[in-house]
Amino acid sequence: MDELSEYSSEILEFMPTQQLGKQCKMVGACVSTDFEASSQDKSVETTLRLHTSTQTELSTSLQTHVDEQRLALWLRKIYPAVEAQLLKGITPLNNCCETVDHAFTSSNEKLKVQIYQKITVGGTENSQGIATWLSVHTNNAPMLVVSTRSPHDSWCDHLQQTLKLLVPNRMQTANLVVYTEFKNLPLKACLGCLSTNTFNKSIFAGSTMDGDIHIWGCRSNNRVGDNKSSITLASTYEIDELCCSASPHGCAVALCWSSENRLLSFHSNGFIISWVVGKELILENDFQIKVQVSEITAAICLNANTCVVGVKDGSLFLCTITSFGTMRKQMEVVPLKKHSFMITTLIKTVFNNCPSVLSCDLSGQVLCHSISHPEEESRVLRIPLPFKNAIACSKDGHVIYSPGADGSLEYYNIVSGVHSIVKGTLRGKGNFIACSDNGNWIITGLYADDFQIFYIDN
Ligand SMILES: [Zn+2]
Repeated sequence: MDELSEYSSEILEFMPTQQLGKQCKMVGACVSTDFEASSQDKSVETTLRLHTSTQTELSTSLQTHVDEQRLALWLRKIYPAVEAQLLKGITPLNNCCETVDHAFTSSNEKLKVQIYQKITVGGTENSQGIATWLSVHTNNAPMLVVSTRSPHDSWCDHLQQTLKLLVPNRMQTANLVVYTEFKNLPLKACLGCLSTNTFNKSIFAGSTMDGDIHIWGCRSNNRVGDNKSSITLASTYEIDELCCSASPHGCAVALCWSSENRLLSFHSNGFIISWVVGKELILENDFQIKVQVSEITAAICLNANTCVVGVKDGSLFLCTITSFGTMRKQMEVVPLKKHSFMITTLIKTVFNNCPSVLSCDLSGQVLCHSISHPEEESRVLRIPLPFKNAIACSKDGHVIYSPGADGSLEYYNIVSGVHSIVKGTLRGKGNFIACSDNGNWIITGLYADDFQIFYIDN
């Protein structure tokens, strides 16, 4: 129970841009992918490069001589099983779950959001959730890593934290995809943030509260076994620490990959560090934002040398690093439209074919900033979700999702103004949300010991 006060305080409110329940015709959704980096440095590359559009999982090609006769025999043997699988068609998703179907855009455009699976992780009381989606594994379902962060006064003395790898598996008997824990990696401190490499989604970075930056790689080992009556495909999954380095500016508040081999870490003291990721994690340079209030609270990379940072007083800056070189490092800082409260979330999106950044502050106010035309006035979205400050966004930038109470998911169509809720079945207040790059999966948490996964059919 919250403590009740006898005193009434001033009511702060803002009116929604659109009236609730209003029906509008939706503007044609745009199709887009991540912005490509202009150039990539191959000299420091150590990981296998995969094109993100086709990437499913990290595979290691065998350079050894192949016995073609044995291969032909094996292919003949597995062919009936493969054919039988293909005839079954794609795996239908769990349809026993509640499906919320709102025809809120137009008659032929529907968004189906369904509550999907609960992931139970052990954590100390009042822990927060942290997660990142990796590469797609099966049926449009990406692998997932999750962890919890215990409450802190200042120092982190949680030496028993873990990072869990969850792999989506097709259940043959039940005909659905189920997330299963495959790996539990011990950590020496709580994680402050996690970030998947958008150029190679098997690689991800994490910053621990003790100030270390870790780079991990996820790989699968497929083994084919002959179980007399049937051929079985057994897979194991590993998370390898590829490299690690201590940050001179403490734990990062945000991590972002500006290219396949360059990671930017953002720190509350106003510093941005560029790291070169290779066999080792090398500190390339650091840049300081010299503004009145420089305590960074959120950040997002837009391309190889541009990022947006949000700070504690609600200011936002478009930062362009014109030279990463140690001798003549250079960063240009341009202010964007300011919020009244601390920036909590920044999301890169494409809105009406225009590269944009969504910013959300502590009060739940969302602004949409056009990045290709920063001189244009930012579109202000006044979302009636007071104090919702963890948000995610649909691929077309039209729907904003936010974790609700007791495992529910609230979503708001910024074109039509329609606000909907998928009811949850858990207990507590969620404060974390992450949407997969394909826009099909959302994870929210932490509700006591549980994360909640949602599936979006779009
Ligand atoms: Zn801790």
